[in-house]
Amino acid sequence: MTRMVASSAPGRAAEPTLFGAERRVGVLLPLPLPEPYDYRVPPGMDLAPGDVVAVPLGPRQLAGVVWSHGSGAVDGAKLKPVAHRFDVPPMTEDQRRFIDWVASYTMTPPGQVLRMAISVPAALEPPRPLLAYAAKPDAEPPPGFKMTPQRRRILEIVADGPPRGAADLAEAAACGTGVVRALAEAGMLEPVLLPPTPIGAPDWHRPGPDLSPAQAAAAAALKERLAAGAYATLLLDGVTGSGKTEVYFEAIAAALAAGKQVLVLLPEIALSAQWLERFARRFGAPPAEWHSDLTGAARRDTWRAVADGRARVVVGARSALFLPYRELGLIIVDEEHDGAYKQEEGAIYHARDMAVARAHIGGFPIVLVSATPSLETQVNADSHRYLRVHLPGRHGGAELPDVRLIDLRQDRPPARHWLAPTLRKALAETLAAGEQAMLFLNRRGYAPLTLCRACGHRLQCPNCTAWLVEHRLARKLQCHHCGYSAPMENKCPNCFEEGTMAACGPGVERVAEEVAELFPDARTAIMASDTLFGPRAIQEMVRKVADHELDLLIGTQVMAKGHHFPMLTLVGVVDADLGLAGGDLRAGERTYQLLHQVAGRAGRGERPGVVYLQTYMPEHPVMQALAAGDRDGFYALEAEQRLEAAMPPFGRLAALIVSGEDEGAVDRVAYALGRAAPRSDTVAVLGPAPAPLALLRGRHRRRLLLKAPRGVAVQPLVADWLGRVEVPSSVRVQVDVDPYSFL
Ligand code: ADP
Ligand code: ZN
Repeated sequence: MTRMVASSAPGRAAEPTLFGAERRVGVLLPLPLPEPYDYRVPPGMDLAPGDVVAVPLGPRQLAGVVWSHGSGAVDGAKLKPVAHRFDVPPMTEDQRRFIDWVASYTMTPPGQVLRMAISVPAALEPPRPLLAYAAKPDAEPPPGFKMTPQRRRILEIVADGPPRGAADLAEAAACGTGVVRALAEAGMLEPVLLPPTPIGAPDWHRPGPDLSPAQAAAAAALKERLAAGAYATLLLDGVTGSGKTEVYFEAIAAALAAGKQVLVLLPEIALSAQWLERFARRFGAPPAEWHSDLTGAARRDTWRAVADGRARVVVGARSALFLPYRELGLIIVDEEHDGAYKQEEGAIYHARDMAVARAHIGGFPIVLVSATPSLETQVNADSHRYLRVHLPGRHGGAELPDVRLIDLRQDRPPARHWLAPTLRKALAETLAAGEQAMLFLNRRGYAPLTLCRACGHRLQCPNCTAWLVEHRLARKLQCHHCGYSAPMENKCPNCFEEGTMAACGPGVERVAEEVAELFPDARTAIMASDTLFGPRAIQEMVRKVADHELDLLIGTQVMAKGHHFPMLTLVGVVDADLGLAGGDLRAGERTYQLLHQVAGRAGRGERPGVVYLQTYMPEHPVMQALAAGDRDGFYALEAEQRLEAAMPPFGRLAALIVSGEDEGAVDRVAYALGRAAPRSDTVAVLGPAPAPLALLRGRHRRRLLLKAPRGVAVQPLVADWLGRVEVPSSVRVQVDVDPYSFL
């Protein structure tokens, strides 16, 4: 890797339309390449930096972006010509500088970052109506037409959603487009011409609600920064229900009025139906959405609408950061502390941190929003690098829930049950009062571990260092890391005894079983990512809870986020200690944030809420802080410990993950990296050591961790380090700058 510094982007003045006497350009391709490739500009073609062009690469033709003047490394006579320029707006200089910056910060080849920005090749072609296929519910297969599993799958997918193009359907069903066409020819699908995805035009003239004095002051602070037209990072800090969303909607309105595009990042857009509805009510039109569940046509249309400026507000998951905005002028990062902002595969980056860089490059403000900011953000706000805007109290005087600890050592659930007597009593009272309750357990399935009572054998994934999780509803065992699944057997695979396999510990399905035993008449449901398929199922569940069609909800993390349930007055956390096990750097912080957020679901309406945390460690600082509602005390303690250990945000980390199928080769590379590690008075390298997930999807994994003082740029150190070690192609070395996962 050669590009390590962030300043390699061309300056603002250098935007010529011709490229030297030789008429050559450097085109960055969406491939893991370290640099742009040179191409010849054919006579009659005029190119400028940012133009999106088609160029030949070997036998293929690829879309790339004109990045530079060309290096001149290749003899002009051997250069291949640019094939043509796409009729799309050029990528702005800010966007190009951002891509270069992300590449150098995360130590990812710039082409790989570019691939996230031009992720929809179809969007580069002129828009044309798309032939799509809709369901034909009553169609009977013609005689002799076999309903293969693939054909059936396509029909199921169509029956369950909007019309989709052949390629889209084929992808969703993991088959070829021929299967779709065969169904259409047999009259089993209805061909339709799809109009372009409508792009909403949010109207900022519409009045918002009357703001409380505190909200109005916060909104004014945001708008003042916006009017200044310069980079600034603001932290909008206030408890759940204080009106943070209402306040940043005001900033969005102001940005729209100023002719800017706005990006709102949400951690999990699939869980954000209520947010979308609220936005549409406030602005009279929906925002453009960007996430992995979009159909191919919506993806194409939205990409283009962002590029040509028709999409004024984009709401999306982290990948929305890389869309080709024309005039981005405000970014909001809601729930900025959320772990979902860290992308752990491919280009490893933290969307919140990259968003701050994007705002810096673009010279506009960014607002980080949270009731429980990350320690990184807290420290930046305390040191006035970020501007803290505080919202005290819940809107309309709703009270914060009363958080109580249940000491499981004293207040014990019956054997093989998981709810303590105190919590059972509270549930009974809540249901009797006609209110709603929620039990939270961040563990899918029935039981996290199955073992043989006769020989002690534990069922483990063959591809991963992980136990198989029993999913009783689906009647199978599953690995939550690689998706491996096996039927649930009655017989031990080790000692062959019958009927000795026993479930250990609870997952949500097991808690649901206990609830059914205790409250057979209550209307209950499980809410977990594997029991709700897709965003629509989640939306429907959220609606049912909001409309009080359910009394008791048992759920994982998917339920903790953002939802507003006015009749929910009791939350029980089945195992508050769960996130503290393993004890990585942020275990305490993350547990605090998650449980605080879960607790925030209670008492959002008129009735006050109560939260019970079941714990074996009631004296733990996380539990004490939650019970006392002492957020700032908790952060102060956490900061003190990190400072003492020189850990982030007071020190810097970079992890190397060495992986491969051949364990010997992986170890050789890991040890070579260990020997070549940069070590000094200030820089330490830990490892190599087997990763906690020493085997993942059949790949052996070793980790090394570089630790440096805060002021040290770790990228040049790591680049130099990697340059000293030979890595065979069978082994991969991934770099994770600012790691959040240590698995
Ligand atoms: P947060 O984002 O801090 O969790 P919200 O913005 O979601 O808070 O506000 C919580 C609830 O209070 C929402 O239902 C919201 O519509 C309502 N609310 C907040 N501020 C106002 C206001 N000024 N006028 C009317 N309703 C408000
Ligand atoms: Zn596995």
